[in-house]
Amino acid sequence: MKIPKTKKMYCKKCKAHTDHAIAHAKKKERGSLKKGSIARAHKRGRGVGHGNLGKWGSKPAVSKWKRAGVKSSKKTDFRYKCAKCGKSSIMGKGIRAKKVEFE
Ligand SMILES: [Zn+2]
Repeated sequence: MKIPKTKKMYCKKCKAHTDHAIAHAKKKERGSLKKGSIARAHKRGRGVGHGNLGKWGSKPAVSKWKRAGVKSSKKTDFRYKCAKCGKSSIMGKGIRAKKVEFE
């Protein structure tokens, strides 16, 4: 799938249609000291008690839910950056594509 490097779209901050640079989202690691980290959550007392605690509770075996290699394509996750003010926005819904090329 070929995607243009820039696109004219609406900027929430400028309140006008401006040129936006399109780029792939970078992968970010979950911070070990952040509020969302499991280790810190346990220190805060989450994940203690009876029943299924969802995100904070015990996890099933990886082989039970991670079906690695089943899908051959990935959903796109683009970030649009306004050329005028620098405000970046995310795409609403990703499109399935095997290969993404910027032209
Ligand atoms: Zn803008």
